[in-house]
Amino acid sequence: MSTTETASATSSTAQVPVIGHWVDGGHRASSSGRTAPVFNPATGAVQAEVALADQAEIDAAIASAQAGFEIWSGYSIAKRQTVLFAFRELLNARRGELAAIITAEHGKVLSDAMGEILRGQEVVELATGFPSLIKGAFSESASTGIDVYSIKQPLGVVGIISPFNFPAMVPMWFFPIAIAAGNAVVLKPSEKDPSAALWLAELWKEAGLPDGVFTVLQGDKLAVDGLLTSPIVQSISFVGSTPIAQYIYETASKHGKRVQALGGAKNHMLVLPDADLDLVADQAINAGYGAAGERCMAISVVLAVEPVADELIAKITERIAKLKIGNGAGTDAGDGTLSEPDMGPLITAVHRDKVSSYVDIAEADGAEIVVDGRGFTVDGHEDGFFFGPTLLDKVPTTSRAYTEEIFGPVLSVVRVASYDEGLELINSGQFGNGTAIFTNDGGAARRFQNEVQVGMIGINVPIPVPVAYHSFGGWKQSLFGDAKAYGAHGFDFFTREKAITSRWLDPAQHGGINLGFPQN
Ligand code: NAD
Repeated sequence: MSTTETASATSSTAQVPVIGHWVDGGHRASSSGRTAPVFNPATGAVQAEVALADQAEIDAAIASAQAGFEIWSGYSIAKRQTVLFAFRELLNARRGELAAIITAEHGKVLSDAMGEILRGQEVVELATGFPSLIKGAFSESASTGIDVYSIKQPLGVVGIISPFNFPAMVPMWFFPIAIAAGNAVVLKPSEKDPSAALWLAELWKEAGLPDGVFTVLQGDKLAVDGLLTSPIVQSISFVGSTPIAQYIYETASKHGKRVQALGGAKNHMLVLPDADLDLVADQAINAGYGAAGERCMAISVVLAVEPVADELIAKITERIAKLKIGNGAGTDAGDGTLSEPDMGPLITAVHRDKVSSYVDIAEADGAEIVVDGRGFTVDGHEDGFFFGPTLLDKVPTTSRAYTEEIFGPVLSVVRVASYDEGLELINSGQFGNGTAIFTNDGGAARRFQNEVQVGMIGINVPIPVPVAYHSFGGWKQSLFGDAKAYGAHGFDFFTREKAITSRWLDPAQHGGINLGFPQN
């Protein structure tokens, strides 16, 4: 989904707060006169407006980050590590506050918001061990009397542009490592849920990070383009939809920057006939409808190798009937406790209608609608952006409902005759983010991991998001650039290496004049 949906400039006359930037270690109001609405997706109400930066604000944010970098890059490793540990401790103690902010603006259920924070916290924890991960290397006596060694230095000001669906986790894929390595970050969050970034900025301040090292620039395409073209910004880490990822990659590369741009996805689950179908049905529900399908690692296609499709569809349908859909913040259970639904609303009405239109397309193209989530409403939340869990069968692989990313709670079943037919479908798609195979046949699983053209693979695991010390990233149209997020790729991305060849002259060994190419 592109930001054009919400980026139309509106004046901030509404009686709602205006969410501003975080620059120079503090909240900064915007004077751009441009804002976009921030909804509560569960109620449909506009709960705030977010500032959309103008060029002066973009320049001020980048200049502040440059000043922050000058200070921070001079900190010793030990001092930087102290700040990282303090940030981790504060996050660990207070992450419930952040989860509530995420749910209020994104709509996902509270436990899921907590889940994304925990996955982001993993990267913070990895980053606390940065000294051993950004060490250089030393070769004594590479030639007689000559030592060769390498050191890794920060890049400077680095830009992070994040999507709406993980307002805390996705920025945390990048900024803990970037900051640990000595860089200063300018984060441009999604304008649909801009508050999590500000909460994280406050936490950094409390942890002792110098002003300017973590900046939040609210905005739309103008702010993004400001980062992509600024000569001060050294790198761009982007996560979002594929067309924008490609634009980011091309534009930032043209401006001489390092770029990692993670795009969209269409993740398939290949179910072999020997799989445990109860396990598969549970996992298809979790991976298809969790976060209302608004996850880049959601499973959106179940490839059922016959003869399992009918039985599997029956099991998934049974489970859908039991799902509770409602306000992600929970509702009063009547006994003073909160009852949490399984699934919340979609991010905007525009996005809900787009998801709905894909179901129309599938139907028109001949798919069978097994469970129809169109027109779904929640009592007491009639204006919320809800869409019911939807199950489609026999989806033609020529339909746009199959070939394009829907990014909603819509699970498509495609029946295939064999492993090979399923594999061919996965490999012929435009995306290569995640996939999963469900089977009890170790040989088939091993063959799959070798043959599938996808970056992240689950074997009886539906959402194979790698742990922090591996790296996250897909293939094909799911990742532009060659650096994945976090893990070893993250430390490489956020540092620049220098190789030094050194000789401390001993007058007795002085070689005199020699215009030849240096040899060993
Ligand atoms: P999006 O591409 O609309 O927006 C992402 C960011 O780009 C936002 O900060 C937005 O302000 C900015 N942006 C939007 N349009 C722009 C334009 N024309 N020019 C410059 N900047 C622009 O994505 P979204 O709707 O926020 O997020 C959902 C998408 O992100 C899905 O496609 C999902 O698969 C993808 N995603 C991918 C991963 C991954 O790891 N591969 C992870 C999460 C989300």
